[in-house]
Amino acid sequence: MLRVDKINVFYGDLQALWDVSFNVEKDEIVAIVGSNGAGKTTTLRAISGLLRPKTGSIQFLGESLGKIPPHRIVELGVAHIPEGRRLFPLYSVIENLKMGAYTRGLIEKKDETLEWVFELFPILKERRNQAAGTLSGGEQQMLAIGRGLMSRPKLLMLDEPSLGLAPRLVLTVFDLIRRINEEGITVLLVEQNVRHALQLADRAYVLETGRSVLEGKGDELMDNEHVKKAYLGI
Ligand code: ATP
Repeated sequence: MLRVDKINVFYGDLQALWDVSFNVEKDEIVAIVGSNGAGKTTTLRAISGLLRPKTGSIQFLGESLGKIPPHRIVELGVAHIPEGRRLFPLYSVIENLKMGAYTRGLIEKKDETLEWVFELFPILKERRNQAAGTLSGGEQQMLAIGRGLMSRPKLLMLDEPSLGLAPRLVLTVFDLIRRINEEGITVLLVEQNVRHALQLADRAYVLETGRSVLEGKGDELMDNEHVKKAYLGI
């Protein structure tokens, strides 16, 4: 579904990604794990078209994303849930959700999509008229994911969905990601919470200072000596 081939991404003169390659197959959950500043956010921003690789290529369903503007990339079926959620705090839950469906085709199906999102996240239905800024951290994360789902994506990309959540809520959000995947949506997840991400993912890549250094099945990487020492504290 997604093929990222040797991308090199810069911020001005500073190189953030070095020959990063990976792929995501339809129906998989793939995680990119790594510490602060490893280049995880940069990778997702490159796929969304918010940053352009200097060299290398990104293909989604056989189409090169190189020159496609970000809003068209969303229309092709890629939703990006940014780190920090980026909600409109003074707007209600339902208004935030509706902002996720903005093309003509999506607007026509909006009510149906909204029902689907409410089925997945009953708490959002309960809170639908409440201002987004007054939701708890976990609820805000669900709202951010729900807004992404309003674009009816084929590939859902999540940037650190566990950030700032209490451990119990991390598990809830990860369970929801699994459920969304079971609905037929492919997932690309970037996480610093390496343990949980590897438990959830079918496959994962480890990114260190802008380079992909390891890849494998989630459970295989959990057993890898470097991963254990550097990320799992065992
Ligand atoms: P975090 O979890 O802290 O967000 P990350 O793995 O997502 O980390 P990135 O945000 O992708 O890492 O950052 C990769 C590198 O690019 C870092 O060295 C960072 O300092 C640098 N960087 C990120 N954004 C910018 C920017 N807007 N301008 C310049 N350098 C940047």
